[in-house]
Amino acid sequence: MCIFCKIVNKEIPSNPVLESDDFLAFHDLNPKAPVHILVIPKIHVESFNEVSGEIMEKMTPFIQEVAKEMGVEHSGYRLITNIGANGGQEVKHLHYHLLGGAKLKWGHFADADPKDFI
Ligand code: AMP
Repeated sequence: MCIFCKIVNKEIPSNPVLESDDFLAFHDLNPKAPVHILVIPKIHVESFNEVSGEIMEKMTPFIQEVAKEMGVEHSGYRLITNIGANGGQEVKHLHYHLLGGAKLKWGHFADADPKDFI
C-alpha cells in the first residue's frame, strides 16, 4: 500500500486541515512555503494521467475550500501536481501541492532551461 493510502487509512499520522468522504488535505512534511498543503483523493489514483473527470469535478471545489481554510484564497497561491519521472513525482498517489503564504518565486521551478536541450 502506498504512503498516502496509509495516511488515508490512518496507519501513519498526518496533520490534516480538511477532510471529506472523498478527499483529504494535510500539511506537507517538508514544506516549501509558509503554507504547503497536499490534497489527495482517498481512492488510489497514481497521477493526473489516470484521474477521471468525475473525480476532478469533485476535487476542484474541495481544493478551493482548502485555500479558504488556509486563508490564501485572496492573497493567492500556487497549485502543482507533479507527474512521473520528469515531473519529479516521488509519491505515486495523485496529490496537488497547494503553496502560499508568501510571494512565491517562479524561477525555482525553471530548472530545465529549454536552451540546454536545443
Ligand atoms: P512529489 O515529489 O510531488 O511526489 O511530492 C511528494 C511530497 O510528499 C513531498 O513534498 C514530501 O515532502 C511529501 N511527503 C512525503 N511523505 C509525507 C508524509 N508522510 N506526510 C506529509 N507529507 C509527506
